[in-house]
Amino acid sequence: MSNRPERHDGTQGPAGREGTDRQEGTDRKEGTDRKEGTADRRAGELDDAVSRASALLDLADRVTVLTGAGISTDSRIPDYRGPDGVWTKNPEAERQASIQRYVSDPEVRKRAWMTRLDSPVWAAEPNPGHRSLLRLESRRKLHLLITQNVDGLHHDAGSDPERIVEVHGTVRRVACLSCDYSAPMRDALDRVRAGETDPDCSRCGGILKSATISFGQNLVAADIARANEAATTCDLLLAVGSTLAVFPVARVVPIAKMSGAGIIIVNGGPTEMDDLADVVVSGSISEVLPRILG
Ligand SMILES: [Zn+2]
Repeated sequence: MSNRPERHDGTQGPAGREGTDRQEGTDRKEGTDRKEGTADRRAGELDDAVSRASALLDLADRVTVLTGAGISTDSRIPDYRGPDGVWTKNPEAERQASIQRYVSDPEVRKRAWMTRLDSPVWAAEPNPGHRSLLRLESRRKLHLLITQNVDGLHHDAGSDPERIVEVHGTVRRVACLSCDYSAPMRDALDRVRAGETDPDCSRCGGILKSATISFGQNLVAADIARANEAATTCDLLLAVGSTLAVFPVARVVPIAKMSGAGIIIVNGGPTEMDDLADVVVSGSISEVLPRILG
């Protein structure tokens, strides 16, 4: 199995279900009634899905959680691949994010440091979605929390760092591309504020970058192995806020399924793997996740 992140583009589904809720009648009164009926039915379906997800969680002993960008959008951190995602709206920014461009072009690095200074991550706070996952720990059910996010908000929410695997790295630290030097991001940003446009490694002079996995960089094999192991050995997999379109991490869902685990998917819109799920809960994550986790 390759441990290089494969990006599946063009896989994002339509934005929610709003588009299918067309008001077709010409009689306004009749149309309004129909719309209210649809809204009631949708609320009923959501209540039902939340109840079924809660029931599965009650029965589970070892829950592996996978989170993606959708859990952090209510903390005002933009996602990348959703309908309003950074890369959906600006594909050039995606190409700029490759490791090859970063290494070969000092101007790309200068711009990257300025972008890091202004990142919305520094002001972001965990939302009720992040915090509700603590319930799994207090109920002694959390097996592993795998996240595709690099924002560090699960740490801020108080999740046990020993049980978090950040498969795409973290913006909270910098890493040298030539040696194994690593340091807090805030120290590097202090150097940028003091006038360095492209701070280098204080140990070997190499290029520093946020400790995230860029395009063209390999994932950390040990992290992927740990995620896959946790998918194999859980009895329930809870996928939250991920379109499940970025591999290999999304593979934890079919791995868990094949190992006999139940699957719950919670997301704002459709995912690539809804057909594998026992329950799909579609709604605002910061609202429905606390309801599911109790
Ligand atoms: Zn170095």
